[in-house]
Amino acid sequence: MSLSDIQSRIDAAARAAGRAPEDVHLIAVSKVQPNARVEAVLRDGHRLFGENRVQEAASKWPDFRAAFPDTQVHLIGPLQTNKVKQALDLFDAIHSLDRPKLAARLAREVQARGTCPDLFVQVNTGREAQKAGVLPEELDAFLESCRRDYDLPVSGLMVIPPVEEHPSLHFALLRTMAERNGLRGLSMGMSGDFEAAIALGATHVRVGSALFGARSAG
Ligand SMILES: *Cc1c(COP(=O)(O)O)cnc(C)c1O
Repeated sequence: MSLSDIQSRIDAAARAAGRAPEDVHLIAVSKVQPNARVEAVLRDGHRLFGENRVQEAASKWPDFRAAFPDTQVHLIGPLQTNKVKQALDLFDAIHSLDRPKLAARLAREVQARGTCPDLFVQVNTGREAQKAGVLPEELDAFLESCRRDYDLPVSGLMVIPPVEEHPSLHFALLRTMAERNGLRGLSMGMSGDFEAAIALGATHVRVGSALFGARSAG
């Protein structure tokens, strides 16, 4: 599906929900996609992309950014503490803040640099053992600790719902948790469910395969 098709669907979903289309940001998830496809979307004028691996982002985005300087890249996958420095060099936002050790490491580096990326705390609303994210009952204390102990400005929450469950339940839960904590950002919705996520307040939808085509791996 073309960039303009996806953007029209986003705009329509926002209007149907009584929201301003410009309040919903399309993160084009370019992981594992051939560079030619990514470049085509850049040439179409899109400037916000998502990657889920630090190493992969490091291999393509410095060059793309040199060619398209106003581009923003968000990390949407798990971040190891030993890659925090590299991540801060590469990304404008991190959607996967999910544990105190990472918060501590980020805080130290952010303080040294004097700049902080946009931060989203990932919530494991489905309580899946294999999935990253703060458990719902631990979220409020974790957010409080980010503010109080680490002086980290968190701007929103992120979720990846369990594949076998209805995503809207998880989107609604994420919104409730964000409202309760005074957070405006909601990173939720992927290729199969971004319209449902927009109906429930998504500010950032992460769309990969619907835009670029199926991934061959990853
Ligand atoms: C890959 C990925 C996406 C995009 O998934 P699609 O179904 O291809 O749109 C969104 N969010 C995260 C965290 C991902 O890893």
